[in-house]
Amino acid sequence: MTQDNMTDLVIVGAGMVGLTLAALLADSGLRIRVLEHRDIDAEQALTWEQSQREQGYDPRVSALTVASQQVLSVAGVWPQIEQMRLMPYRAMDVWDGEGTGHIHFDCAELHEPCLGHIVENRVTQAALLQRVAAQPNCQLSMGVALTELSEPDEQGARRLTLSNGEMLESRCVVAADGALSNTRRLAGIGMWEWDYGHHAIVTTVTTEVSNQATCWQRFTNDGPLAFLPLAEAHLSSIVWSTSPDHAKLLMELNDADFCQALERAFEGRLGRVTHTDPRAVFPLRQRHAKQYVKAGFAAIGDAAHTIHPLAGQGVNLGLMDAAALAETILEGVKDGVDWHSEYHLRRFQRARQGENLQMAATMEGFKRLFNAEGPLPRLLRNTGMSLMNRCSPVKNHIVQQAMGLAGPLPRLARRPIKE
Ligand SMILES: Cc1cc2nc3c(=O)[nH]c(=O)nc-3n(C[C@H](O)[C@H](O)[C@H](O)COP(=O)(O)OP(=O)(O)OC[C@H]3O[C@@H](n4cnc5c(N)ncnc54)[C@H](O)[C@@H]3O)c2cc1C
Repeated sequence: MTQDNMTDLVIVGAGMVGLTLAALLADSGLRIRVLEHRDIDAEQALTWEQSQREQGYDPRVSALTVASQQVLSVAGVWPQIEQMRLMPYRAMDVWDGEGTGHIHFDCAELHEPCLGHIVENRVTQAALLQRVAAQPNCQLSMGVALTELSEPDEQGARRLTLSNGEMLESRCVVAADGALSNTRRLAGIGMWEWDYGHHAIVTTVTTEVSNQATCWQRFTNDGPLAFLPLAEAHLSSIVWSTSPDHAKLLMELNDADFCQALERAFEGRLGRVTHTDPRAVFPLRQRHAKQYVKAGFAAIGDAAHTIHPLAGQGVNLGLMDAAALAETILEGVKDGVDWHSEYHLRRFQRARQGENLQMAATMEGFKRLFNAEGPLPRLLRNTGMSLMNRCSPVKNHIVQQAMGLAGPLPRLARRPIKE
């Protein structure tokens, strides 16, 4: 092994979560290698303004919570994201399409400027790529996958074989390679997994009425339909979760018929849907890694867990994982302990596993409640939502949860206390 092939930390996957971890470790003194199997054009990320004009809006957007905003600020990329493009949302309007239940949240009730931001995934990733590419302790390798991973040797180092034939040695490997993580599989960690029985259609649509800086969500027995506001007032990004058969039918419709079907499903809340961009569809599965860490190994983001997008929490949980793991590693480095040992990495697992499992259980509960047909579940939903809408403490708790401010947060995700 040459000095170039020996490193402290390898992060597999240059998605939003893996890159955030790399950026949070900029001052750690650790040598970091990020491997990404797609040949992402770093130049394109660096000239984002140009590419966005050519490509329009990314159909994949995320509702980033206030806690995620804080993590991305500490990672040094929030100002770039603001400069590129984002949309603060000030309200959330949720209703039961099969009954009368309705709940409305407004940032004014909490004396906050907004409840969160809708950001295109491409924007977050471009800002992070720019940051990490300029980081002296970090080397980005694009178009390269991990093919083999050894157990740790006596010194605690793992050997890695890459798809380009290169061999590496690293004290720790982080799986951030998404829902179908091969790295987690190579580390021998299994998953609990089941199908939600939903496929989600995503695209950008134009509506007659402005989006009012509001996230709209209509629940039906088929699944939730969300309209998320984009920076141009008449544009929204939609996430339409429904049965696989219905999703297939919707994907086969021509644009005009799809717009009509969407308008009907949304009860015309934003008037006519006049245009749709090309649609993409994603099967939705719940997954949870049986463990997040081993000696010299950790899994974060979708590589560790995936949940239903109905509450828009997936990447937010991943960013909290990145923050908690960065904190664990930084503390270990500062204290001069074996930061990559299983014993030390378990701190990260303790901080995140319970939180992530709780969110997965909440999503499952929501999905079942709204999937259930018949008068009793409908009564439960209607009275439950109406009561919540009137009861300020309960409502405040829910909105704090949606903003990512409830529960134990990693230190890097906490907002500084105002003087
Ligand atoms: C329809 C839909 C809507 C959603 N809406 C929201 C929302 O509003 N809010 C929210 O918080 N979350 C949302 N999510 C979830 C969110 O998109 C994911 O949680 C998030 O993208 C996960 O980020 P990640 O970096 O962990 O994984 P990914 O984004 O999957 O990134 C993984 C990276 O690893 C790379 N990779 C994969 N395999 C390899 C390999 N073998 N070697 C090297 N590199 C590899 C990939 O190319 C990719 O760049 C939604 C999900 C869906 C499906």
